[in-house]
Amino acid sequence: MHEKCGVVGISLRDRDAARPLYYSLYALQHRGQESTGIVTHDGFQQHSHVEMGLVSEAFEEGDLEPLNGSNGIGHVRYPTSGGVNNCCAQPFSVSFKSGSLGLAHNGNLVNTKAVRDELAGLGHAFTSEGDTEVIAHDLARNLLEADLVRAVKRTMNRIHGSYSLTVMHDETVMGVRDPKGNRPLCIGELEDGYVLASESAAVDTLDGGIVRDVRPGELVVLDPNGTGFESYQLVDAETTAHCFFEHIYFARPDSIIDGELVYEVRRELGRSLWEESGIETDVVMPVPDSGRSFASGYAEAANEAQRVSESASGVEFAEGLMKNRYVGRTFIMPTQDERERAVRLKLNPIRSTVEGRTVTIIDDSIVRGTTSTQLVELLHEAGAEEVHVRIGAPPIVAPCYMGIDMASREELIAADRSVAEIRDEIKADSLSYLSIEAIAGALGRTETDLCLGCVTGEYPYDIEGERTDREVTRPTGQPSGADD
Ligand code: AMP
Repeated sequence: MHEKCGVVGISLRDRDAARPLYYSLYALQHRGQESTGIVTHDGFQQHSHVEMGLVSEAFEEGDLEPLNGSNGIGHVRYPTSGGVNNCCAQPFSVSFKSGSLGLAHNGNLVNTKAVRDELAGLGHAFTSEGDTEVIAHDLARNLLEADLVRAVKRTMNRIHGSYSLTVMHDETVMGVRDPKGNRPLCIGELEDGYVLASESAAVDTLDGGIVRDVRPGELVVLDPNGTGFESYQLVDAETTAHCFFEHIYFARPDSIIDGELVYEVRRELGRSLWEESGIETDVVMPVPDSGRSFASGYAEAANEAQRVSESASGVEFAEGLMKNRYVGRTFIMPTQDERERAVRLKLNPIRSTVEGRTVTIIDDSIVRGTTSTQLVELLHEAGAEEVHVRIGAPPIVAPCYMGIDMASREELIAADRSVAEIRDEIKADSLSYLSIEAIAGALGRTETDLCLGCVTGEYPYDIEGERTDREVTRPTGQPSGADD
């Protein structure tokens, strides 16, 4: 199960958390469109509303009112390639001997089966295949024997992989980020409380200020009265494994992730793309929306270079591809045929910007190659003389096990092709990708602090059948009492 989601948790002084949770989920909608939900706690009991669909579809007038309580968590869930999946809508909630637990998860564990088998052996009954339920059961079990912080630490020592969680134990809301910080999670401050969210854009939406990112391996416990938070650094890893693809594609450009404004990173990467593989062209155009910030950096660098060399009049930056904003992300189309149709529905060239001209299109990434193949063809049909393709990420050669639904190896166009072969396949006049070094440079991190699994085929976690790029300690089979 590859879950690429958005999570939020809120504790307020004297108002219900449901409405701000609802607004934050709107702000995080790009992180998941399959299902959404809110679970609150009013000091006595949990209230929950979890439904399939977009936030706008899942909540109707009146649905927020019964969600009493000034503490709560929320979730938006990404569609898997298998389509609609009722089993895994979140937040997941359970009641057990020492109270209630709600859990919202972004990421993907790599040792789900081992932990699930062990818990099943102890009598835990599971209702889904998902890893979130495994985390909830493990935590519930630990909470029977230990205080909150020790229980979370025990669970963190048993589960391995990628997780940014918002958790609610009775009315206490917490945020937990895996020791390698694979998925983002930040802390925000509101006038009357605190918020934990996958992206800072959700905090902005609530007119809050960003306090900082949750640190890898850290547990942040919000005061249920909305007056502050406590921090516990529970697990330390030698290196981090931040997902670079969050900065390339997934996160909103207006979010600050691990201290970097996503928009600026993308512009910087666009500039590097020009420096590494700039080509003379009449017009540079982004593939909306994901290529926009890259293309503006690319065109800016191209024009600076031209000014320095005093050549030609500069390159034109044009929005030559119009996007139909009502078509969802192409990935929810299960067949190749439907995916091709979706690209055509989604994007339409403006003939006058391309006719008789040399065009460079900039996109953030190529996955299956559907978008670029279709666009090159469309632009040629619209009269472009030449179509050059520049991509703001390295070739995606391997699947993501850490939570991005990225297609399987067989579907990835770059898995077994050289760049020249891909260029021929998509029928572009030229094709260049960005280097891994440029990405590490723009993020100000060494490659060993990033998860680059999808572009190197080597992962920062121990995944069966795959290579790892670092020392990994095997997580399975530890008795839960021995690791706190
Ligand atoms: P493809 O058409 O399969 O080559 O996919 C590339 C397009 O999908 C690009 O325009 C990207 O912006 C977008 N994209 C990249 N990664 C993902 C993802 N994990 N889910 C949905 N869309 C993506």
